[in-house]
Amino acid sequence: MALITQRPKGTNDVVPSQAYKWHTVEKLAAETAEQYGFKEIRVPTFEDTGLFVRSVGETTDVVQKEMYSVTAAGDAKFTLRPEGTAGTMRAMLENGIMNEGFPQKAYYILSCFRHEKPQAGRLREFHQFGCEMVGTASPRADAEVISLAKSVLDRVGLKNIQLNINSIGCPTCRAEYHKALKDYFSARQNELCDTCKDRLEKNPMRILDCKSPVCQSIAKDAPVILDYLCGDCKEHFEQLKKNLSVMGIEFEINPKIVRGLDYYTRTVFEFITTDIGAQGTVCGGGRYDGLIEQLGGQKTPALGFGMGLERLILTMEKQSCDFMEPKTCDLYIASMGDTAADKAMAITMELRDEGYFVEYDLVGRGIKPQMKYADKIGAKFVLVLGDNEIGTGKAKLKNMASGEQTDIVLDGSFMETFSNALVAEMFKELDGELSALTGRKE
Ligand code: ATP
Ligand code: MG
Repeated sequence: MALITQRPKGTNDVVPSQAYKWHTVEKLAAETAEQYGFKEIRVPTFEDTGLFVRSVGETTDVVQKEMYSVTAAGDAKFTLRPEGTAGTMRAMLENGIMNEGFPQKAYYILSCFRHEKPQAGRLREFHQFGCEMVGTASPRADAEVISLAKSVLDRVGLKNIQLNINSIGCPTCRAEYHKALKDYFSARQNELCDTCKDRLEKNPMRILDCKSPVCQSIAKDAPVILDYLCGDCKEHFEQLKKNLSVMGIEFEINPKIVRGLDYYTRTVFEFITTDIGAQGTVCGGGRYDGLIEQLGGQKTPALGFGMGLERLILTMEKQSCDFMEPKTCDLYIASMGDTAADKAMAITMELRDEGYFVEYDLVGRGIKPQMKYADKIGAKFVLVLGDNEIGTGKAKLKNMASGEQTDIVLDGSFMETFSNALVAEMFKELDGELSALTGRKE
């Protein structure tokens, strides 16, 4: 049988040595969201296909070209979630969360699936950190959600990230705007791609988001929605700008942003980096005041964003940001002979119960290769146990950084001696870092 050694195109493995990068962004994102009063929500990986068609929108690239759908036994059609908002709103409605008082604030970290052309920063399975706030139409909420996304980007250490904002209005202002767009694009109808020819009738705004170079070049001089905003939408946008200024958040207005999902109304925004090539949108979001009603709930304003974690980590790597170092082994117990190996196991169990990170030989190697292994995994201390040590009940605890050896008695006092040595080493390290910071000589 042939070996299956290739993952599907557009998917990624996170190998154990790289997992700490993911832990870093997941932890910082979740902590920041909680600090803003958001609580985690977990939703299914797949939903009824209709949920995405209705929310993301029939004429979007996502629904027209990118969904992974299956027909299960008995005709039901399911789709792997291409984004997190629709499922989150479905879950909030289904679980009565909308009746529990507003605003409701939820965040998630989940995988999304889109059948796109894979390239750097564009995958078929990718991961999003997302936040959704439900039940407020206030432009303060828009600024709050944007500031949450920005805090996450700041805390992971990103620099040179630009915030672009726009307003794409409400159905009232969009009626006028659609007319203007139709007029504009009709003149060059023949040049549009087939998908956009169809969009011209159904949803001309979608043409602005088409990835085809010809459509993009035609769209360059198209009318912009900001010129068509109704009074209320204009006022909302003004208030948002004011709130961002109050918060000290810099932004650019980009009247070209329309976003790839149909449910957006009024505020849309993107955080962009130029450090990772063409796929530089690290975070995208906005308001979706019509979505909940569209899904069968009561008309309820809401907003949120999705942050692409692959793009976030890619940018962090490019900018040499710090990731949280994974824990390293406190103690490796090297042993020779069965009796010593048993003792190593017993001591290990005791220390782990106290919270220490301890390893011992599981391969049956000699002392030398065991020492090499301890060095390779970065163990802070090594304890060597042989017949002699078992006989006398005494052993040497070796500090791997300094080479220093401490006598240690293998009885009830062991734990205390070991923890003292570990603490002393921690202080030494801290002191070293402090000297480096202050320029003090040893
Ligand atoms: P893009 O314009 O880059 O296709 P989008 O408008 O389709 O993005 P959203 O649906 O708003 O993106 O998703 C939010 C975020 O998720 C994006 O800003 C991006 O960081 C990330 N993202 C979207 N699609 C992909 C993908 N195929 N691979 C990796 N990350 C993605
Ligand atoms: Mg897209």
